[in-house]
Amino acid sequence: RTVYVNGEYLPEHEARVSIFDRAFLMADGVYEVTSVLGGKLIDFDGHARRLERSLGELEMKSPVTPEQLLEIHRELVRVNEIEDGLVYLQITRGAPGDRDFAFPDPDTTDPTIVLFTQSKPGLADSAASREGIKVISIDDHRWGRRDIKTVQLLYPSMGKMMAKKAGADDAWMVEDGAVTEGTSNNAYIVVGNKIVTRQLSTDILHGITRAAVLRYAREAQMEVEERPFTIAEAQSADEAFVTSASAFVMPVVEIDGVALGDGKPGPRARRLREIYLDESRKAAI
Ligand code: PMP
Repeated sequence: RTVYVNGEYLPEHEARVSIFDRAFLMADGVYEVTSVLGGKLIDFDGHARRLERSLGELEMKSPVTPEQLLEIHRELVRVNEIEDGLVYLQITRGAPGDRDFAFPDPDTTDPTIVLFTQSKPGLADSAASREGIKVISIDDHRWGRRDIKTVQLLYPSMGKMMAKKAGADDAWMVEDGAVTEGTSNNAYIVVGNKIVTRQLSTDILHGITRAAVLRYAREAQMEVEERPFTIAEAQSADEAFVTSASAFVMPVVEIDGVALGDGKPGPRARRLREIYLDESRKAAI
């Protein structure tokens, strides 16, 4: 596999980053994941815009322009012959000589930029998407700026492991009695014709897929209510689903051992998945 590191395309085993890199020592970096379907990028502009915002919130600057970023994405998809899969991008504050809590001077320390691809044949047609996934609820112990897409993913990883140990697929995190989001996705319930999902704030990541799916839901005459919801409300909902760049719209069929409806993916989740995939493929670049 060919990867991109700081201006160079290299075989993955030749790619190197300093042990002093602040992402390695302090999780001081941000990332994006963009899906590839049919060799094309899904919602690249949305991811590029959110990247700029994450960087700005952390007083960092991208070492490449959005045009260069697109070019790098496309080149990696091309050389690695990615039909379906994803492009992972990470920008960190770089590697000053010494470990220090204070940010290094950006005039003397360049950011580190790394991109690689992952091939995922059949990404849009997984068994999970046909059968739905099971989630458990766990306390949300993450930091308070979840709107910044940082590489501090230890708690979400632990959440995923808690889910696996409980025989489930993922965990929904709960704070002050209400669901924030999934370990790596935004969470929704469906009550009648209404889609309910938590409103945007610093409590959750502003999903690129979320923005598109809510737009399609409104266009399909579904009602959208942006507010927190509880696990009890979710368990008595008609349907539930999650969204992310790599899972698209994924039906949820069980929450803390309670099956939703007939235990199968609901019609609205299935419809939104179909619309999302159709529209995304059409708009892919
Ligand atoms: N919330 C969290 C915590 C996530 O990690 C992700 C995916 N990175 C999402 C939501 C979904 O965001 P997107 O639709 O932009 O992939």
